[in-house]
Amino acid sequence: MAQIGFIGLGNMGGPMVRNLIKAGHSLKVFDLSEEAINFAVQSGATAASSVKDAAVGVEFVVTMLPVGANVKEVFMDDGVLAAADPGTVMIDSSTIDVETAQAAHAAAKAAGFDMIDAPVSGGVTGADAGTLTFMCGGEKGSFEKAKPILEAMGKNLVHCGDAGLGQVTKICNNMLAGINALAAAEAMVMGERLGVPRETLYNVISTSTGNSLYFENFNPMPGVCSGSAANNNFKPGFMAKLMLKDLRLSQSAAQSSSTATPLGAAATAAFQHLIENGFGDLDTTSIIKLIDPDVK
Ligand code: NAD
Repeated sequence: MAQIGFIGLGNMGGPMVRNLIKAGHSLKVFDLSEEAINFAVQSGATAASSVKDAAVGVEFVVTMLPVGANVKEVFMDDGVLAAADPGTVMIDSSTIDVETAQAAHAAAKAAGFDMIDAPVSGGVTGADAGTLTFMCGGEKGSFEKAKPILEAMGKNLVHCGDAGLGQVTKICNNMLAGINALAAAEAMVMGERLGVPRETLYNVISTSTGNSLYFENFNPMPGVCSGSAANNNFKPGFMAKLMLKDLRLSQSAAQSSSTATPLGAAATAAFQHLIENGFGDLDTTSIIKLIDPDVK
């Protein structure tokens, strides 16, 4: 069993740490939030006093941070890469921009470390259940080294290609998820306003051509499917501001690849509007509040 440093113990990192401990690994954990560290310690992890402390004396470092600037700071600004023992394998599971991911790979390589970008899909439910999908970029050999660790947290481990291509795959996925969230909200509000009960709409559409994984499992209309944060006053889950971050990443990727993404652009504008209205810390399903501010 492995010694693992884990940095970023939020909605996703917290349950990922618990699954690594359950699988028998030893965890040294760090977060800017003391509360998050204490919670992980209660599950059997050891508290580290800093980013660098979490990276010393371990065989793997896993990071689960909000944005690229955090990843740059944690790895490159006198952080993990300056402190880790030779041979440590770096796994960044944050969803970040391709450029920062590739810069982190290059810095890790220059310092002699294996690294993969390994963003995930499956949400907090998948993190809890250990059923995440990992989309990995980097050298195949680095992916193979990381695999036994990823297996404790996920079910579907995919090598997508070179450095940064895990992030590209993730951004394409989340552009679709954002579009599907908005589309589900529009259809559910419109159908109910025209007189069809929400349960009927859900039952029919979730077995018809309008279905999506988002519609079926994270429906933004409260009360129609059991796993949705909409049933719990839109408590995240996956915060709307993180969805906006990913949609923005998709739009800069669209620009850099000269790809027209009109639906991606519409979803980005909708989430931006939602966040300007003060709902950024709610779950992504709260996009329905843009269509019906009084939804219950
Ligand atoms: P979160 O905000 O709940 O957790 C992030 C944690 O990182 C926080 O506890 C924060 O204190 C910590 N942190 C930030 N900067 C730090 C630093 N410099 N040093 C140490 N700790 C630091 O976010 P989350 O929902 O867990 O998401 C993390 C990443 O996973 C994001 O990139 C997100 O897009 C992605 N993601 C989230 C979900 C989801 O459903 N929540 C699903 C898939 C992917």
